[in-house]
Amino acid sequence: MRYFIFSDIHGNLEALEAVLAILSREKDCIPVCLGDIVGYGPNPRECIQAIRDRNILSLVGNHDHAAIEEMDISYFNPYAKEAVLWTRSILEDSDVEYLRSLPTIRTLGNMTLVHATPCNPEAWNYLFTLFDAQSNFKCFDTRICFVGHSHQPIIIIQKPGGECWVHPHTAIGIKKDQRLIVNVGSVGQPRDGNPHAAYTIYNEEEGTIEVFRTPYEHRKTQEKMKRHGLPDYLIERLELGR
Ligand code: ZN
Repeated sequence: MRYFIFSDIHGNLEALEAVLAILSREKDCIPVCLGDIVGYGPNPRECIQAIRDRNILSLVGNHDHAAIEEMDISYFNPYAKEAVLWTRSILEDSDVEYLRSLPTIRTLGNMTLVHATPCNPEAWNYLFTLFDAQSNFKCFDTRICFVGHSHQPIIIIQKPGGECWVHPHTAIGIKKDQRLIVNVGSVGQPRDGNPHAAYTIYNEEEGTIEVFRTPYEHRKTQEKMKRHGLPDYLIERLELGR
């Protein structure tokens, strides 16, 4: 089986469409979305619709939670807060209902799927360091855990003794005794210096995982954000990938 895994769309329809176009050409690939369908971008409703129409298995992210008023946003930075409030103002009841129906964490075959971290997923912690990874390997039983949330692709490996390290590439042939935590990056707001939309393919039979990137019409997204009066900082970061 092959899995097509992506995360953090953030209401960016152009980026999502670019990724879904690639998905439509992939044969026998199960798509999975790790959450944050909305927040920041100008098309939250259309992004929800696109995921729903294709029956894509999805999890909920912190911005999805915030948009349906399931969490306190006082700790959000001012830009994120402004975008969340704007998103709240345009979502319809059916969108809210859909986001509310999404699980926080689930397993699928030998994978754990979660937006933030397998330990305490609703604390919405970030997984940046090897130290963060080490404790998180204790919180799932499957071989691989796929996460999003930081918008930065990374592959972290654990050996049977518990030793962890960061894989120096975003593609890997998995060795028998390894367990992995894989951050699949972001579709709609990459923050690793590469503005292209990210998606990951996990080939279970071959034991390979690779994070891919695709360009999209970010100027179109930026123009829409300007029209809706969304913060300049959020508009500019799309072309920088920061
Ligand atoms: Zn996000």
